[in-house]
Amino acid sequence: MPKFMQTLDESVYQRLKMIAEQRGITIQELIRAVIIPEWLSVQGAKYEGRALTEIQCPICGKKIIAKSDEKLTEEYDKHIREHAEEFKVLKKMVESEEKK
Ligand SMILES: [Zn+2]
Repeated sequence: MPKFMQTLDESVYQRLKMIAEQRGITIQELIRAVIIPEWLSVQGAKYEGRALTEIQCPICGKKIIAKSDEKLTEEYDKHIREHAEEFKVLKKMVESEEKK
C-alpha cells in the first residue's frame, strides 16, 4: 500500500474518532447510531411525503439545504458519495477492530 494511502486512512480515522468522541460514542456506534439513521431519515421523509429541506451531514457537519425534499435527497446523496471512500476505510477499520 502506498504511504500516502496510509496517511489518508489515518486522518479519516482520526477525524471520525474525534466526531465519535465529541458525541461520547465509539466509532462503531457512530456508524450504527448516527450515520445510517441520518441517511434513512432523508429516505424516510421522501417516502412519507414529509417536506425536508435541510439536513446536516453527520460526517463533516456541513449543512445541506435544498428547495424540496427531492432535491435534498439528491444533494445529500451527492454529498455523501464524497465520503464513500471514507466509509469503505471506516468499514474495514471497524471490522478489524471487532476481530480483536
Ligand atoms: Zn459531509
